[in-house]
Amino acid sequence: MIDLHSDHAISVSQSTGKVRQYPGVIRLLAIGDKDSPDAFVVINIVPMEQYIPGVLAGELYEGWHDAAFEAQAVAARGFAVSECQQRRDHAWDVSDTQASQAYVGVPSWSQAAQCAKRTEGLLPVWRDQVLPGYFSSCCGGRAATASESIGPNPINAVAPLDGHGAPAQCQSSPMYTWTQSWNAQSLRKAIQSWGRARQDDALASLNRIQSITAVSPNAHGRPTRLEIHTTGDTATIACIDFPQILAQSGLESSRSGWVEGSVDAGDLHVQGHGFGHGVGLCQYGAEAMAASGASAKSILRFYYPGVEIKKAW
Ligand SMILES: [Zn+2]
Repeated sequence: MIDLHSDHAISVSQSTGKVRQYPGVIRLLAIGDKDSPDAFVVINIVPMEQYIPGVLAGELYEGWHDAAFEAQAVAARGFAVSECQQRRDHAWDVSDTQASQAYVGVPSWSQAAQCAKRTEGLLPVWRDQVLPGYFSSCCGGRAATASESIGPNPINAVAPLDGHGAPAQCQSSPMYTWTQSWNAQSLRKAIQSWGRARQDDALASLNRIQSITAVSPNAHGRPTRLEIHTTGDTATIACIDFPQILAQSGLESSRSGWVEGSVDAGDLHVQGHGFGHGVGLCQYGAEAMAASGASAKSILRFYYPGVEIKKAW
C-alpha cells in the first residue's frame, strides 16, 4: 500500500487521457499475488466536505440553480455516509461513477464548491438514521421506491424512500420520454442467457419477441415489471433487470427499465421513460423546482417525504 500526500491537489491522468485534480490522499492498494501484485486499486481518501463539490460537479450542470445543487449536496452526503456505514470492512466506500455517484475530484468551476459549503454538515435523516439519499437524473414522471428499485435492504424500507405521488416536475427533461431500438434477436439471446444464469426456464427458452409492455405499477403508477410477449407465450422480468440484461450482454445500454414497444422488421422499438432508477431526488425535477423558486429544503422534502434535515457537523 502506498499513500501519496501533497500540500496541493494531486493531478491524476485517467485512462481516457483526461487529467483531474484530487484533494486529500491518493492511496495505491496492491491487489493480486501478495509478493508480486499485478494491479493497484486507486483510492482517493478525502474529507466529506472536500468530496461533495466533486460529486456536484460530476452530477449536475454548471449554471443550474443553486437550490438544486444544495438539495443534491444533502442527498449525496446522506448517500455517502450511508455507504460508509455499510462498508466498514471494505477498503473504499464509494466508486466515482454512477454505480455510486459521479465524482470528479476538484471541480474546475466554483458553483459546486459554493453550494456544497452552504449545506456543510447537513444530512437527510429519518428517525435518527441517516438516509441514503438516492437520486437519479430523471424519474420519467413517476417515482420508483427504493425497496423495489434499489434492493430489499431494510434501510431502503423507510417512508422517505417510498417515493412521492405528486405530479412530476421533470417534463422538460430530454430524458422524460425517449425512443430506442435493439435488434430483437440479440435481445432475445441476452434474455435467454440471463435466464440460464438464474435457472429461470421461461426466460432461458424465450421464444421470438413480439412486444414488451410495462405492468405491475407501484403506488405512484410507475411500472415495476415488463411483460415480454413472444410468438409462444409471455414471460416477465423486473424493470430494474432490463438495463442489467443489456449491460451483461454488451448491447447498447438503456437509460431506464421503464420501456414499452414492439418488434418491426427485426428490431424492437421502445418508448422509454426517465434516466436512472427513479428513486428519491429527480435531478431534472429538482432543477425545475429550483428555477421556480423552491428552496433546497422544500425540494428535499418533496422527493423524500417526511425527511428531516439535520446539521451533523
Ligand atoms: Zn422526475
